[in-house]
Amino acid sequence: MSHSYQEATLVVHGNHEKNACGALATPIYQTSTFIFDSAEQGGRRFAGQEDGYIYSRLGNPTTGQLERKIALLEGGEDCIAFSSGMGAISGTLLTLLRSGDHIVADNTLYGCTFSLITETLPKFGVESTVIDLTDEAAFKAAVRPDTKLIYFETIANPSMKVIDIEAVASYAHAVAPGCLVVVDNTFATPLLVKPLALGADVVVHSATKYLNGHGDVVAGFAVSRKEISNSIRMVGLKYITGAVLGPQEAFLILRGLKTLKVRMDTICANTLKVVDFLRQAEQVDKVFFPGMPEHPNYETAKKELSQFGGMIAFEMRSFEEAKKVLNHVKLCVLAVSLGDCETLIQHPASMTHSMCTKEEIEAAGFSDRLIRFSVGLEDADDIIADLKQAFEAAE
Ligand code: PLP
Repeated sequence: MSHSYQEATLVVHGNHEKNACGALATPIYQTSTFIFDSAEQGGRRFAGQEDGYIYSRLGNPTTGQLERKIALLEGGEDCIAFSSGMGAISGTLLTLLRSGDHIVADNTLYGCTFSLITETLPKFGVESTVIDLTDEAAFKAAVRPDTKLIYFETIANPSMKVIDIEAVASYAHAVAPGCLVVVDNTFATPLLVKPLALGADVVVHSATKYLNGHGDVVAGFAVSRKEISNSIRMVGLKYITGAVLGPQEAFLILRGLKTLKVRMDTICANTLKVVDFLRQAEQVDKVFFPGMPEHPNYETAKKELSQFGGMIAFEMRSFEEAKKVLNHVKLCVLAVSLGDCETLIQHPASMTHSMCTKEEIEAAGFSDRLIRFSVGLEDADDIIADLKQAFEAAE
């Protein structure tokens, strides 16, 4: 398929392969294993001398179709599907790092990723330096000639920090030859930014979020060039995590992806309206959204993102008011996760980032007054009306 199609077309048709019966929707190959024609053929497949399926942890036609579509959308040579975003992140990091390596990570990350980098990797002898990657001096001081990996999120969870991918990648590659830049593109999706084109080496995703978009699947991806992805598949997926995506889930994500462009466009437009309301609401102390001129990374966001996304965070005047807002919304759904059709509201300090200490939360630039908000596909006026009544009830 030509790569010159627009993204609205690519999410529907991109890399779609014909199947034996001509079914429009990709069939679900609900099988754990695949029959060999002969012992010799089985041997050749295991030896990598013949293409073909072996066992669904190593590859499955439904999942493979999804992987090729995601690779196309991210502009990567290959994609590996995992059974969760954390599966993709841990499978990638545990494949690419070894004892004695040094990594530099941003200090604002999804809580479980933060724990993996600051607590688990050091247990295996990986030294991690965690800093604010938007602080150029701190970043340059942290990267060493032997640094093996840089890790950050395109729109960081939950402060909505936007890091200059091109600047970070070009500096890291120049100073630390062989250093790999790994970027979590969950919040932005490949429709808002394509990190590989800006110099990143690997893009990881929680596909649980926008890519699937319907709150009914947990999944993850790692996208990169063949040389890297072969090792992530044959080590990180095959025997470190074994966190393989099932064909049913792959089918649902293929279905969800067809509407990714219309969903993102509507969500981004709704978000701008909700941000306008929040900026004027007297009960709100501070709004975190990269599309606001007063956001510290607004210039980077304008340069890097085609739209500013559907994630907002805002701080109320007190923890008590924040809690009351969470308990008084009627339309918005009190639940973690993001990127669904429903607007989701949650409290990072006690939920998604509850594993972080107070100091780590402060260093990441937020507090227990912060509410994170994933704008959905409802009418923006209804979302705003719900917030308004919750703010009034919280006073
Ligand atoms: N990355 C980001 C930015 C996330 O927000 C999350 C989950 O919330 C993950 C990764 C982990 O993904 P999963 O829950 O699919 O394992």
